[in-house]
Amino acid sequence: MPAHTGRLILTEQDPFRLPDEAALRTALDAVGLIAGPLPDGEAGYATGPRFLELVVFAGCAVRLELSPRGDGGPFCHVRLLGPYTLPRFLGGRNTRPPRCPSCRAPLKGWAGAALGWDRSAEQPLACPACGARASAFRWDWKEGAGFGRLLLSIEEVFPGEAVPTPALLDLLTRTSGRPWRYFYAQDP
Ligand SMILES: [Zn+2]
Repeated sequence: MPAHTGRLILTEQDPFRLPDEAALRTALDAVGLIAGPLPDGEAGYATGPRFLELVVFAGCAVRLELSPRGDGGPFCHVRLLGPYTLPRFLGGRNTRPPRCPSCRAPLKGWAGAALGWDRSAEQPLACPACGARASAFRWDWKEGAGFGRLLLSIEEVFPGEAVPTPALLDLLTRTSGRPWRYFYAQDP
């Protein structure tokens, strides 16, 4: 089986917040982003009737499969990841070194064992350039990684291939009462 292409992930900007899962599911169903659960007991939801109005795919070359294929190949679907007790780090092959919140210097080697980072959002990471220490979630991961306790994952999406519309981000924000963001994560 080929490697997973990646995920477009949406989550609250504050990684410690836990949105109400049932309210979120109801809102996403009502707006037409998701339809029913996937067949054959697979985790996740089929895309709903307004999916392509709420998530914009770039490029005319994209061949989008919206239903499960007979051969088990990738098709677009939606998952809710979590809820997790603590914010979970999601990143992977596409993640670039995060930038220091004080001086913007990149933290090279962030993925290596040398840093001793256990992937918790709160663990302080020290900046090699200015010496500032800030919790991992305060570093600027851009759209290459993120943290959250309940995350909306749209799969399979190559990083940058699709973006949520302002209407979708607004819906999520209104449903949970706090602002949302998005990023991309490919498997490591
Ligand atoms: Zn710094």
